[in-house]
Amino acid sequence: MRNLILFGAPGAGKGTQGKSLSERYKIPQISTGDILRSSVKNKTALGLKAKEYMDRGALVPDEIVLGMVVERLKSDDCEKGFILDGFPRNIKQADALETLLGAMGKGIDSVIGIDVERKELVRRLSGRRVCRKCGANYHIIFSPPLNMGVCDKCGAEIYQRDDDREDTIEARLKVYEQETFPLVDYYGKKKLYRPVNGIGSVDTITESVVRAIEAGKS
Ligand code: AMP
Repeated sequence: MRNLILFGAPGAGKGTQGKSLSERYKIPQISTGDILRSSVKNKTALGLKAKEYMDRGALVPDEIVLGMVVERLKSDDCEKGFILDGFPRNIKQADALETLLGAMGKGIDSVIGIDVERKELVRRLSGRRVCRKCGANYHIIFSPPLNMGVCDKCGAEIYQRDDDREDTIEARLKVYEQETFPLVDYYGKKKLYRPVNGIGSVDTITESVVRAIEAGKS
C-alpha cells in the first residue's frame, strides 16, 4: 500500500509528478484542484461556490474540499494506495485527513515535498498553459506545444488557467507561504516529510521522488 501526499507550492510540479507516479504505481492521483476545476466547468452548485475563491487565489472553504476528498478516498480504486496532489493545504485539512484515514484503518506513508524557489515558481506559473481536454502541461517558453494553442498529445485547445495570471499568482504564493508551508513542520514531526529538489528534467525529478518514496518504506 502506498498512501502518498505530493507536497509543494503552486508550480512546483505536483501535477506532472503525480501523473507519472500514478502510472508507475498504478494508484490514482487525486488532485483537489482538478476536481474543483471540473465542478466549475460543469457549473455544479459546488463549482459555482468554489469559483469565487479560486479566481482570487484563495483556498476554497475546508468543508467543501473535505467533503470531496472523503468521497474520493472511499472509492475502490484507492484500495492499493493514492497520491494526494494539492491536499491537504492547511493544518485543519491535515488533521481531518488523519482522522478520516484512521477511521478507515489507514495512514499516510510519505509526504514528498517538491522544492522550487519562489522566483522559478512565478516563472513557471506565468508561462504555464494547459490542455482543456487531457490536462497536459506546457510552458510558452520552456516547453511550448509544436503548434501554438494546440495540444501535442490530443489536439485539443490549450489555455491559460484564470488563476495563472500575474496578480492571482502572487495571492496563491502568499496563501501557500502562510497556510500550507506550516505542514512541512507538521509532517516533519511525524517523520513523514521527505524533500526532493524540484529543479531539473521531469524524469530526473521523478527518480528523486521514487527514491524518496522507497526510502520511506524501509
Ligand atoms: P491547484 O490546481 O492545486 O493549484 O488548485 C487551484 C485552486 O483550487 C487553489 O488555488 C484553491 O483555490 C483551490 N484548491 C485546490 N485544492 C484545495 C484545497 N486542498 N483546499 C482549498 N482550496 C483548494
